[in-house]
Amino acid sequence: MRIGAHVDSADPLAEASARAADAVQFFLSDPKGWKAPQPRGDADRLRAAEVDVYVHAPYVINVATPNNRIRIPSRKLLVSHAAAAAEIGARGVIVHGGHVNAGDDLAVGFDNWRKTFAYAAESGGFATPVLIENTAGGENACARRLDALARLWDVVGEYGAGFCLDTCHAHAGGEELLDLVDRVKAITGRIDLVHANNSRDGFGSGADRHDNLGSGTIDPELLLAVVRAADAPVIVETPGGASGQAADIAFLRGQTGIGDRLA
Ligand SMILES: [Zn+2]
Repeated sequence: MRIGAHVDSADPLAEASARAADAVQFFLSDPKGWKAPQPRGDADRLRAAEVDVYVHAPYVINVATPNNRIRIPSRKLLVSHAAAAAEIGARGVIVHGGHVNAGDDLAVGFDNWRKTFAYAAESGGFATPVLIENTAGGENACARRLDALARLWDVVGEYGAGFCLDTCHAHAGGEELLDLVDRVKAITGRIDLVHANNSRDGFGSGADRHDNLGSGTIDPELLLAVVRAADAPVIVETPGGASGQAADIAFLRGQTGIGDRLA
């Protein structure tokens, strides 16, 4: 099982070494901005690296919204990120499930997701697999609760969409972690990546504040159970810089049934 961390984008391979990580995730552009990703000078090194690379798409992307002025640039930014991610040999682009606004019909959000994949398919599909991540907050989210996720997968499943399960988001979003992997896989048929994070906030709070695995409001045993059951690569998006994340990675590797498969 590959285990890594979300790191600063300046020198991801150095960040991986500092954490003894098998995998890294980083942003290719300002996560709060609309700028397209630029070519990277370390693309060859990243492609050749033993470390697995994941790209997190900017937070501003919301392909579900009925608002054209957000949705259209969101689609384009997701496509450009998938292309830039391919240049560095990334295994996936992680993007949040998005939402519609209060009063909007959530069905429109799901249909906009379908159109996003259909739009990409017109030019041969996304250059890197797109992994849709569950989110913590909002009453109109496409991938917060599993009932919504099921409706989302009805439309994106046929396009080969991937899924990224964030444990903090699930807990804060109001989904019990016990047996969550089975319930998710019954819907998506897959979990491509786990974001293993504890939560500073309580169950169902809707807040999105990550904590180190041994801290926070989630019983660490539940986090471990999710990681074991998912049997997918793991990224920690936890605080504390290199030392905090290295400790979280070491904690996961020290558990039976998690570190075993390390090549
Ligand atoms: Zn996450």
